[in-house]
Amino acid sequence: MKQKGNIQSNPAALLENLKAKSKREANLFFSLCENGENFTHSKKLIEALNRSGLKSNDNRLQNLFRSLEAHGDKIVFEDFINIIRTSGLLVEKALRGQLVLPDFINFSKKIDKIFDEVKTIISGELASYIPPLAEVDPNQFGIAIVTTDGQVYERGDSNKDFSIQSMCKPFNYCFAMEQLGLEGVHKHVGQEPSGRQFDDLTLLARTVTGNYTGDFAKDNLEGRFARVPFNPMVNAGAIMTAGLINPNDSHTQRLRHIRQQFGRLIGWTSKNNNVSKLPRFNKNMARQENFKGYNNIAMGYLLMATGSLPHTKSDLHKDIHPDEDEFDFYIEPAVTDALKLYFSICSIEMTATDVAMAAATLANSGVCPISQDRVLSQKTVRNCLPVLQTSGMYNASGVFFQEVGLPAKSGVGGGVLLVVPQLMGICIFSPRLDEQGNSVRGLEMAKKLTSKYLVHTFDGTMTDTSREDPKLPIARWLANSCGEAIWAASNGNIRTLESLVSQQRDLQQGDYDIRTPLHLASAEGQLEVVKFLLNQGVKPIPDRWGGYPISDARNNKHHKIVDLFNELKIDYTEPFHLVENPKGKTDKMAHFEDELMVIELLFAASKNNVDNIRHLVAQGVPVHAGDYDLRTALHLAAAEGSLDAVEYLVSHGHPLNVRDRWGATPLDEAKREKRKNVVSFLTKI
Ligand code: GLU
Repeated sequence: MKQKGNIQSNPAALLENLKAKSKREANLFFSLCENGENFTHSKKLIEALNRSGLKSNDNRLQNLFRSLEAHGDKIVFEDFINIIRTSGLLVEKALRGQLVLPDFINFSKKIDKIFDEVKTIISGELASYIPPLAEVDPNQFGIAIVTTDGQVYERGDSNKDFSIQSMCKPFNYCFAMEQLGLEGVHKHVGQEPSGRQFDDLTLLARTVTGNYTGDFAKDNLEGRFARVPFNPMVNAGAIMTAGLINPNDSHTQRLRHIRQQFGRLIGWTSKNNNVSKLPRFNKNMARQENFKGYNNIAMGYLLMATGSLPHTKSDLHKDIHPDEDEFDFYIEPAVTDALKLYFSICSIEMTATDVAMAAATLANSGVCPISQDRVLSQKTVRNCLPVLQTSGMYNASGVFFQEVGLPAKSGVGGGVLLVVPQLMGICIFSPRLDEQGNSVRGLEMAKKLTSKYLVHTFDGTMTDTSREDPKLPIARWLANSCGEAIWAASNGNIRTLESLVSQQRDLQQGDYDIRTPLHLASAEGQLEVVKFLLNQGVKPIPDRWGGYPISDARNNKHHKIVDLFNELKIDYTEPFHLVENPKGKTDKMAHFEDELMVIELLFAASKNNVDNIRHLVAQGVPVHAGDYDLRTALHLAAAEGSLDAVEYLVSHGHPLNVRDRWGATPLDEAKREKRKNVVSFLTKI
């Protein structure tokens, strides 16, 4: 936002006016207006949507864009309401920062950083046993992340097609389960980690229970004992599951069906028939793999021999060969059909963005985030993910589960997909592989991602404040980490403090001004709280101005607390607060009942996160809400030199002469911290 000079209109009056027309959308619209103007711009709305992670090519927004085009650049409130209604709740959620990844821009910046670090890794080798895989550019590197709300992050070679290879396996398994159900599929394949190479010929021996009455049990094993592939993620299991999908159709029909199913996972529907969403099939790749794929071919026969692959019902043909020494050599078509289909599906090509979308469909319990098409039942997805989690990463599955803790699948084409249930699908593509066959950079990205974010399946079992929850804006996460304790301390609520102690929360943690529970308890004369905190080993530390809790107690004449701190024999410094004109004008600040939202607003202002501030305004938080020290967002933005935030706040009606506990205005704060740009902006108004 550019500096506007004099502010003539009145934002507060505008908001009142909007609320009188329609309460529901008033704050949303207001968050996009400037300086009390009663209109916004179409490009502002589009920018806000893009910054929330929604792409301009998102199908769900096409009506909105058409409607925007029809209206031109200036949008008044009544038009705004009609325009955003074309996209259901999606736009409202995006503007309020209530999509599943609320702080999309910050998240993107962090992933960018990880990407740049990982890009420097060049170890690993291309897969060479399928010739075309050995010919790809080894330096390719891309990542895409798609959330269950359809937010899309892309970086590097995220739009280059690559061979999905084994990443097809979880989907084959799902497609087969959609047709045969869990039990039906697992008559033919197990769920156990194999602990062996992905192409190992060993099968899992298991006793057949009464339920297993399929061909394979009766015909070959007399119902006692079966040998089946360990799980659908190893080759034998994937050949098996491919063999189970539409076995009576022709190869072309089967492959078309599967490509359409993959298409549906990424947004193709029979209605939109958007062929760009039908994954490509690389026939050359399939032929080349078939040509020397002896091991897989052996596996197909083994599956037939053990009886787990259902065979065709054909009888032995009549011998029509006149020559005594000659006969028609028979090859069981069920084996070749299953292998042909398996090689073909492995040779499907998709981009990292496509695969991330397919993974996001899994994360979204089977519904494609952008088409809202239910492709897989919840049950199918729920049954697939545990097998992915235990067996998706070849022989590194155990370590991967422990370290990264997410269902994932890699392929020798260099792709790795990860599913963060209810949050997002991720695909990393980089073709250099380690000894286990996993993409080296893919693994590294996955590890770094989970070390930064709380997405490991079992993260709920520990408190680790050094890692962020991507479902929360950073400002909210910071507010949660200190706000509750500070409010409880200032209100004398020892119960809450006790429960925070039992959660191992840090009671010494300060807010944006390094104000701690001990400061607030001292300022408010909460003697018992001060005693409690000191007993817990909490140490008095100086705040932003160099003030220790003892100064708060002294300023507010809480002598008993002063005595307590004096007993500690610490060399306390005196705080410095700049108040240029203590008798000057004083503006009123707002009271907002959700205290944590206020703290979030102040954190967002201090970090110059205008998106986050805009989201909070759209949720109805007054820009000039004050905290326990009567600090407001403008105080914080001014103190930190966050000029964008200062401009946004002022243009949304934040009064200039609000005074904190010590009487300082935002301008005083900017001067004290020597924030020249903010001082010059605030003095020009
Ligand atoms: N089509 C490959 C094979 O069967 C897939 C291997 C993989 O990606 O793990 O060997």
